[in-house]
Amino acid sequence: MFYKSTRSNEKAAKTAAEVIKQGLADDGGLFVPESVPTLSLKEIEALCKEDYPVRAATILSKFLSDYTYDELLEDCRAAYDEKSFVGGAAPLVNIHDRFESLELWHGPTAAFKDMALQIMPRLLSRALVKTGEERTALILVATSGDTGKAALEGYKDVPRVKIMVFYPVDGVSRVQKLQMATQTGSNVNVCAIRGNFDDAQNGVKVIFGDKAMAETLNQKGYFFSSANSINWGRLAPQIVYYVSAYCDLLNAGKCKLGESFNVCVPTGNFGNIFAAYLAKLMGLPIHHMVCASNTNNILTDFLRTGTYDRNRDFYLTMSPSMDILISSNLERLLYFTAGSEKTAAYMEALKKDGCYTVDAEILAEIRKNFSGYFTNEEETAETIKETYAKYGYLADTHTAVAIHAAEAYVGESGDTRPMIIDSTASPYKFANNVYRSVTGKEATSELGALDELSAATGTAIPYPLAGLATRKVNFEKVVDREQMAEAVLEYLN
Ligand SMILES: *Cc1c(COP(=O)(O)O)cnc(C)c1O
Repeated sequence: MFYKSTRSNEKAAKTAAEVIKQGLADDGGLFVPESVPTLSLKEIEALCKEDYPVRAATILSKFLSDYTYDELLEDCRAAYDEKSFVGGAAPLVNIHDRFESLELWHGPTAAFKDMALQIMPRLLSRALVKTGEERTALILVATSGDTGKAALEGYKDVPRVKIMVFYPVDGVSRVQKLQMATQTGSNVNVCAIRGNFDDAQNGVKVIFGDKAMAETLNQKGYFFSSANSINWGRLAPQIVYYVSAYCDLLNAGKCKLGESFNVCVPTGNFGNIFAAYLAKLMGLPIHHMVCASNTNNILTDFLRTGTYDRNRDFYLTMSPSMDILISSNLERLLYFTAGSEKTAAYMEALKKDGCYTVDAEILAEIRKNFSGYFTNEEETAETIKETYAKYGYLADTHTAVAIHAAEAYVGESGDTRPMIIDSTASPYKFANNVYRSVTGKEATSELGALDELSAATGTAIPYPLAGLATRKVNFEKVVDREQMAEAVLEYLN
């Protein structure tokens, strides 16, 4: 299996190891496989009897053909083991009737980024060997909170990589700060900067683009790499849990082999929902994909009108991981629907004017598979409250956005197939807002909200968030943004 850029007509020529190491294509496009491998109903039936790591290795081996099955199985077993994912990697929990919550947050940071970030560093580590790279990869991450922690947990103690995370000192929540400052591992570093998230991100960009810095690193035996969400190594592992969820539906007798189901995904960067689309192209019987947004409803508008327009207000919501105006992975869907020439033109227009409109046939094709719905703040809080009061299911803010969107889709379409709702974060990750929605009261403090939510609902705080305040702080460094490069060099010395 070879890979090519979404923006070029060239023949696919890169291996999976090469694209995982490289991240973004040379022309600025995203890497896509030359074709989509198939998954037969017979293979799905066989996977029903297997555990999550075997399901994952089987699906990944179809895309990462330059990795052996045994290598992939070893990595999947290490990534999705019971110690990190207590109670299983992606359990399916019934909410009510035909609504099933696919809980993707049982990993070490209690959010769905773990599903990809636990395996991707291992794939990168092997990619270095496969591509003859002798240096160590230095991953630099600028984070507004959640991605940085998930990356730290994923890269921790993986051979041949080091990771350094920068976060704005006053721009993350107390829980997020504690999560990062108490990070353990022999190859990790965390540094706060005086500035906001944009300063942190720009600082990392400047370091990535600095030739002298790259040369200094080279002499020390390092090269820069990123843990970006557009990396194919983060996308491919996300296909797995859709297949796994179908196996679990079959095993529970909620579906017969070959019968179709729907999915509803709380969407930001369009990575998670695009993985569902790839699963469908492989042969998984997904009927329809519901793209759920919050008040930042740029994707809802796109799916309704064919115009993607980022010239609009940006809102901070209680589902912050979906507060996004550029959904980078949408480019991969455009490529599969419209081809590389049109995709390149749309992306050029997006860069120049912040806006593009797809042809009517292309929109019609996309709408065969996708519908967009959005959930405002009031509806999100109301959904958390109702879902808990009526069904005893405690949903986080992102999951609630999806539950509400799924209800809207079912109401409008009358489609009664089983509906898999991606649950992307533990309710404890956003304990303040969940507590307020459920009880109508304010928590005493952000950290206090964890205990108060637990007491009010009789549910347990997940292990990654329990006892945070008493853990040992390992990183206290704070620097000015001009000192970020210096901090990197200091870390390597
Ligand atoms: C990243 C994230 C999302 C959005 O996923 P995309 O793949 O970017 O669409 C949704 N919910 C949570 C909690 C996330 O962390």
